[in-house]
Amino acid sequence: MQDIREIDRKELEAFIVSTGEKAFRAKQVHEWLRKKGVRTYSAMANIPATLRAKLEDTYSFHTADKEFQSESSDGTCKIAFKLNDKDIIEGVYIPSLERTTACISTQVGCPLGCTFCATGQMRYRRNLTSGEIFDQFTQLNELSEMLTKSRLSNLVIMGMGEPLLNYEHTMRAIEWITDPSGMDYSPSRITLSTSGLNNEIRQLADANIKFNLAISLHSADDKIRNHLMPVNKSNPLSELSAAVKYFHDKTGARVTFEYLLLCNLNDSIEDAKKLAIYCKSFPCKINLIEYNTVEGLPFKPSTPERTKAFVEFLESRNMVVNLRRSRGKDIDAACGQLANKRQQKDISLETQD
Ligand code: SAH
Ligand code: SF4
Repeated sequence: MQDIREIDRKELEAFIVSTGEKAFRAKQVHEWLRKKGVRTYSAMANIPATLRAKLEDTYSFHTADKEFQSESSDGTCKIAFKLNDKDIIEGVYIPSLERTTACISTQVGCPLGCTFCATGQMRYRRNLTSGEIFDQFTQLNELSEMLTKSRLSNLVIMGMGEPLLNYEHTMRAIEWITDPSGMDYSPSRITLSTSGLNNEIRQLADANIKFNLAISLHSADDKIRNHLMPVNKSNPLSELSAAVKYFHDKTGARVTFEYLLLCNLNDSIEDAKKLAIYCKSFPCKINLIEYNTVEGLPFKPSTPERTKAFVEFLESRNMVVNLRRSRGKDIDAACGQLANKRQQKDISLETQD
């Protein structure tokens, strides 16, 4: 059965009228779905039970429901969401003095297998539907309202998976989140992070997106980037640069490059020089990310001295650089640590059978 969230307002209205109900019910149902983010028919209080039953016979809900919550000593909360097929994905709520941010997932696992990333080491299962992506946002927003009395201030699409490999569903979920007749959330508060898929970056440019684009660069040297991110073999740095230029020319927006600092791998002054040269072709910002160690992987975070020298070099070249500290490390909720250990346990049990 089709997820009721996937049909548009016109189709919903046509169905409702075909059951003998009044057309205005479509507006009410639409509001329950998109403005209030309900995930059951029983929650639609002002809809007659007969219509709810007819809807239920025709359309399902393909939901991501909060299953488990763990809290970090710094206030970060990791939420495990259970999907209809019992898979688990993770989202994170990150409060700070100035903002409350939600980080959401777009795939169960990730097929791109970056060598430093916990999600990349999981078995890839599937793309999430728009409804499953939207449900993470609405439930993290409810958590924000409960804890701070105000809605989320920022949304980052930086959880499990590569959003641009799930282009259609991710874009549709963003559409719902920003829809003025729905959640009415400002696109300028949303950032999507990609490993750098050139064709899809061009597609985003042609769609003239209004949300922010971040690109995981991690090295401006093809050899090193190939080693860290196998996706670089089919999307090498020169082609990525051309796609970013295209994006900037079309949208006028500047992208943010994310750069993980890995000790003795990409954190030398030579690496910083290459990065500075790479970034000359277009306006951009650099977010330097502290590496969160992942059990079983050999990578180590850069040292404070090497990090300082790296930052100072880039600043001496007048680049816009931010150094981002990690949150939620003690509960494996930090960037790149989302791998759902419980699911991994299930998988290894499955393989033993
Ligand atoms: N697939 C997308 C978005 C999800 S990953 C992408 O790769 O951009 C979000 C960010 O977390 C990326 O910049 C990724 O490189 C980074 N990341 C992955 N593993 C990490 C780790 N162990 N420590 C810190 N950042 C990590
Ligand atoms: Fe996938 Fe992003 Fe992790 Fe790479 S860093 S494996 S693209 S989730």
